[in-house]
Amino acid sequence: MVEKDLGFVLRRYNFRETSLIIALYTQRFGKIRGILKGFYTSKKEFSSGLDLFTLNEFIFYPKKSEIWLISYADLISDHSFLSKNLAKAKTAAALIRLIDKVMQLWDSNPYIFDLIANCLKLLENEREQKVLCIFVIKLLTYSGFKPEFNHCIACNRVLDDKMLFSASRGGLVCYKCYKGVKDAQRISKQASRSILYIQKEDFPLVYRLNLSAGCEAEIFNILKAFVSYHFELDNFTEYSVANQKLAISVF
Ligand SMILES: [Zn+2]
Repeated sequence: MVEKDLGFVLRRYNFRETSLIIALYTQRFGKIRGILKGFYTSKKEFSSGLDLFTLNEFIFYPKKSEIWLISYADLISDHSFLSKNLAKAKTAAALIRLIDKVMQLWDSNPYIFDLIANCLKLLENEREQKVLCIFVIKLLTYSGFKPEFNHCIACNRVLDDKMLFSASRGGLVCYKCYKGVKDAQRISKQASRSILYIQKEDFPLVYRLNLSAGCEAEIFNILKAFVSYHFELDNFTEYSVANQKLAISVF
């Protein structure tokens, strides 16, 4: 059956001389992979250049095999500010890399689609690191990998003063339970409460939270440790657009 949906371009690579294979995050079908046959020769069905991060409307044919046929693509938004600012482009690249890594094919989740849209919009005028922190916290929450920031994961005691964080255990540990948890690291009350707030609140409220530079850096390091441990992404922020174009073997 033919379907129409909106999607952000996560990855793209050329196939043979004339075609293009892309990975998308769509509003209704989640992450999909598709081929645009004759992309470089029959331009009239494909008004979009399908650059990374662009939002497009697609017509495609869902089937059981991994790569679906995409017969039409029309550009909705190209987020043109990204082509003029390398730091912002790198942050956007980190966002789409995380989406590609964390989300499975065909796992439909409209919250994730809205999260990409919200964060790309925020990125135009806001600090990159803050957008990335919010994005990672919400992505982990919406995708079922939410770390625990309310109580100790060993004894369930609600923690509101001194606490540690363990990436491998996936949350806070108290000072009574941390022995034997090798990667337990101190976390400030402010950082822990801020993460909890972002986990619970929606846009645009999450973005109104004021974070000091020190607290933001602390949150960023906690998230990096968590993502590195659970998704084997050692430094997701070092990911560049150029690397993406080379990383085609993942298909
Ligand atoms: Zn405990």
